[in-house]
Amino acid sequence: MKNVAVIGAGTMGNGIAHTFAQFGYTVSLIDISQDSLDKAVNTITKNLDRLVAKERLTEAQKVETLANLTTYTKLEDGVKTADLVVEAATENIDIKLSIFKTLDEVCPPNTILASNTSSISITKIGSVTKRPAQVIGMHFMNPVPIMKLVEIIRGYATSDEVTNTIMEASKSLNKVPVEVNDYPGFIANRILMPMINEAIYSLYEGVAGVEEIDTVMKLGMAHPMGPLQLADFIGLDVCLSILNVLKDGFGNPKYAPCPLLVNMVTAGKMGVKSGEGFYDHTHGTKELIVAANFK
Ligand code: NAD
Repeated sequence: MKNVAVIGAGTMGNGIAHTFAQFGYTVSLIDISQDSLDKAVNTITKNLDRLVAKERLTEAQKVETLANLTTYTKLEDGVKTADLVVEAATENIDIKLSIFKTLDEVCPPNTILASNTSSISITKIGSVTKRPAQVIGMHFMNPVPIMKLVEIIRGYATSDEVTNTIMEASKSLNKVPVEVNDYPGFIANRILMPMINEAIYSLYEGVAGVEEIDTVMKLGMAHPMGPLQLADFIGLDVCLSILNVLKDGFGNPKYAPCPLLVNMVTAGKMGVKSGEGFYDHTHGTKELIVAANFK
């Protein structure tokens, strides 16, 4: 495997492209938005500069990494010779199904089609292609160049051979792949999201305030970040959408999102990306001022 195409140049796509390029793959980074592509190249360059400053990469390796990367706005142009496509476009089922239908038509027959989706069924994505055995989940964590885990999700039809190839490709990026089956939320979000939802319920029911809840989990459970702060980083809209996938997928009301989360998203409080969530992020993300305190 040598040629990798990454679709979507947002938060995750730029990190995935960076990582493959740094480990010697030839990478096509594709996005419908030229602006997203420009920002992605800028972010990758800055992140590489930081690695050089920390002496984790040489200047020559930085230059080589950037040379491995080409950007495209037309999907067909970027995937022509891809051995592997990693889709990291917006988390929207219609967008993803349409991308995979097109990929199936324009990619060479052997190309493996992977999705970085946080919650959409890999089996469902595979079902819109004529190659469901070659469709797999490759769920990287944010920030991709730093986080070691890749959750490898086997759809109902994904073959052993493709799973093994993707496990090996993940190891070649110096990551630790973990194989899981395709059920709602996989493992990471099935466990993380109920914890975040419970933290929001604790706030909603007045058990404690934002800082108190996060402090208990940081100092008591040795979590590097409290669940409410983490929810702000992930995006409250994303948390809400994943909880709905869990609730609908299992048909179990225990996953129902807390009404406070629903209200905050409806009011446009999405966390870091909108400047306010449980904390006020308008002064940067280092200084946290409690914005929501529903006692
Ligand atoms: P993002 O909004 O930052 O980026 C999405 C990008 O996709 C945008 O640049 C957009 O222009 C592009 N896009 C939309 N439609 C497209 C199309 N048809 N063709 C090409 N590009 C298209 O989103 P993100 O946070 O990077 O998330 C991407 C994927 O990764 C989602 O499936 C998400 O669930 C998953 N994910 C996100 C995180 C996270 O922490 N943000 C973590 C793990 C997985």
